[in-house]
Amino acid sequence: MTKKKEKIYRNLLDLSLDGIYIEDQYGNILDCNLSGHEIFGYTKEEMLNLNVKDLIPYELIHTFPKIIPDDMATDKDFIERINKKKDGTLFHTEINSKYINIDGEKRFIVFMRDITERKNLEKNLIEISLKDELTKIYNRKYIIDQIKNEIFLTAYNNYCFSMALLDIDDFKKVNDSFGHLFGDEVLIKFSNIITKNIRETDLFGRIGGEEFIIIFPNTPLKKSYGILARIKKSLNSALWEKRDFKITFSAGLTQLNYEEAKNFTYKEAIKLVDDLMYQAKTSGKNKILYSK
Ligand code: GH3
Ligand code: MG
Ligand code: MG
Repeated sequence: MTKKKEKIYRNLLDLSLDGIYIEDQYGNILDCNLSGHEIFGYTKEEMLNLNVKDLIPYELIHTFPKIIPDDMATDKDFIERINKKKDGTLFHTEINSKYINIDGEKRFIVFMRDITERKNLEKNLIEISLKDELTKIYNRKYIIDQIKNEIFLTAYNNYCFSMALLDIDDFKKVNDSFGHLFGDEVLIKFSNIITKNIRETDLFGRIGGEEFIIIFPNTPLKKSYGILARIKKSLNSALWEKRDFKITFSAGLTQLNYEEAKNFTYKEAIKLVDDLMYQAKTSGKNKILYSK
């Protein structure tokens, strides 16, 4: 290549926001463009002394072969990877690569794009689509999906799960007496108290204004009743911003076994706990009614 042509190509490569690398079959970096070392925080000199294994987190090094096989090149496809900067920061990348053979020497041309921002956005969107905006617990759609999932798992694995529907008693009066904003605070605190009392594996969501569902996977009624009783106790001793303020809830609880799961839709499962909750309301509120 003439000097003039080389200068044009070098400038062209340096204009790219993607990192571009030429590597040998052992992963040694033989050349890179400007973004190629800037993305990682290395100088070009430093970069040309590195191997691709220096650019990935320690825990992932074993996933990288000593000699890169030809078919590891993605051609027009992308793979996603986690890379490591000079200062140790990890970031998400998207990589496509091409294998070329130059006079018997194997070379990989690699394009690398920092996709951390896109990944974070995706994570936030997933989070938003699963969670209730006010209380930050799961939303109605997610909890219903999880009920369907539990019914399916129980029907095919011969285990059981419990499910509870909780409705705050006289919540309208809370709003009427102290305002809607305080009502919102009560919903948040109520959710926090429950989250503290359930296990990491239990699923808790808001399915309506002041109505909540807890799914207790692989848990018999006796155990889930105990957890609800503990929640009732915690709520009774909770301290509120307003003196002498108290809230209670009414709940319906059931255990679904293999046989029921085989014949139940999620709507029937919800109706079961809703009917029990309704009975709890009409028989004086502040109680947990269950059926087996
Ligand atoms: P019951 O003991 O029979 O359950 O009576 P209740 O007053 O709790 O039930 P009702 O269904 O009559 O009223 C529910 C109230 O919940 C009415 C509604 O304004 C309130 N609510 C629903 N969503 C929200 C919310 O996001 N924030 C606030 N502050 N209030 C809400
Ligand atoms: Mg209600
Ligand atoms: Mg209510």
